[in-house]
Amino acid sequence: MPVPTAHVHHYDVTLTLDAERAHLTGHARLAVTGGGDGLSLGFANLRVDSLRVNNQRVAYDQRSDAIRITTGRSTRDTLMVDLWYVGAPHMGLNQETYAGERLVYTDGWPDEVRGWLPGTHHPARPATLDLTLVTPSDLEVIASGVAVSQTRDAEERQTRWRLDAPVPTYAFGFAAGPFTTLSDTAQVAAGPLPVSLHLLTDPEPAAEALHRVPEAVAFFEELLGPYPFASLAVVQLTHPYAGMEFAAMPTVQAGLFDAPGTLWTHTPESVAVHELAHQWVGNALSMADWRDLWLVEGMATYLTAWFYAHVAGEAVALEHLRALHDGPSDHQAAAPLYPENPVVPAAHLDRELYNRGALVLHQLREEMGTAAFVALWQQLIEDARTTLLSTERLEEAVASGADVDAGTFFATYVYGRTYPAVPDRLAPPEVLETAAWHTADGPRYRRTMSPPAR
Ligand SMILES: [Zn+2]
Repeated sequence: MPVPTAHVHHYDVTLTLDAERAHLTGHARLAVTGGGDGLSLGFANLRVDSLRVNNQRVAYDQRSDAIRITTGRSTRDTLMVDLWYVGAPHMGLNQETYAGERLVYTDGWPDEVRGWLPGTHHPARPATLDLTLVTPSDLEVIASGVAVSQTRDAEERQTRWRLDAPVPTYAFGFAAGPFTTLSDTAQVAAGPLPVSLHLLTDPEPAAEALHRVPEAVAFFEELLGPYPFASLAVVQLTHPYAGMEFAAMPTVQAGLFDAPGTLWTHTPESVAVHELAHQWVGNALSMADWRDLWLVEGMATYLTAWFYAHVAGEAVALEHLRALHDGPSDHQAAAPLYPENPVVPAAHLDRELYNRGALVLHQLREEMGTAAFVALWQQLIEDARTTLLSTERLEEAVASGADVDAGTFFATYVYGRTYPAVPDRLAPPEVLETAAWHTADGPRYRRTMSPPAR
């Protein structure tokens, strides 16, 4: 999946959802640079009824997976591209019944978002989003970003969402369904952060299972820097995977709330914390290439273990990390974490990237020291608006700033196939020992919205 030539920096999208038919009527206004005369946008099967570039009708050619636009412009121009489209997506939008109610929600990863949104769908093309959703009024709605307005009549609900930190488009998402919403705030560096839960299962035990999420936000802020978005919504969905890191709306599979999981086989909390960690690493700090996926998944996995070192102690976190160590007895993995050649993301996504990735990052922290490791990641995240996350960049940063032989380390564990050792310690980070933990007092979640009409 090559990096698109063009870059859509901002998507202003209005979607009207017919939930019965999982059918969309859409208008997307895209701010595009670098497209030039032969602008190509990833877009699946929806029918484009009208298309304009800078308010002018232009020629275009819609194929099964992309739309090619003759813009009449040079690659230096910033273009405003408007597309009006309609149809039932055959990817990126799921429609189900949950407890007799309609539930509609998106898939984004790796580029399934092209099923409902034309654009440049690659992590090296992060973007901001304004999303207006027109949905049946009986369904609760949640989407990536902060809710900026909501109107509702007997038939329809119109909600507007804004995401003003750029993220990869796979992190754009929304859901409409029979959610019960519980709301609270977490104390973060910028002040009170609205935190909400959007639940399909019995709200009380689900809220209890997720009650440390605000504490996880505060913990990752201390470790990585400010939470990147203006709100946080944790959403239960029925997707077949454990969770998804939609921007500002991480999801957790509803079925996990009934299963007796362990930290390393997924509890609702460990999944929510993993997807929360992605808000910093993966979303705000997006990958340059799909081969850098080991960094995104390895770091989210490692940060989850680190959170458990904070809330449950070193022994629990170490047990968690050791459980990730399912390496072969000869300590030689089948493939490097960072392959030599370009990868197809769906084929590349493997538990090895999570588990071995986390262990390699732990090994790097051991060799660098905690303070240097934390400072390095804080710097990568602080620079996210101008520089993507890449293995090469991490190696350069380690080489220039740390007392570690970066060339040997990366050749051994990242470009090579050597499994890191089983971790024997996970001391609390000394840079954090004096930090004041911002934990909310009293009940974590209050019910502030009544359940939807049944
Ligand atoms: Zn992940």
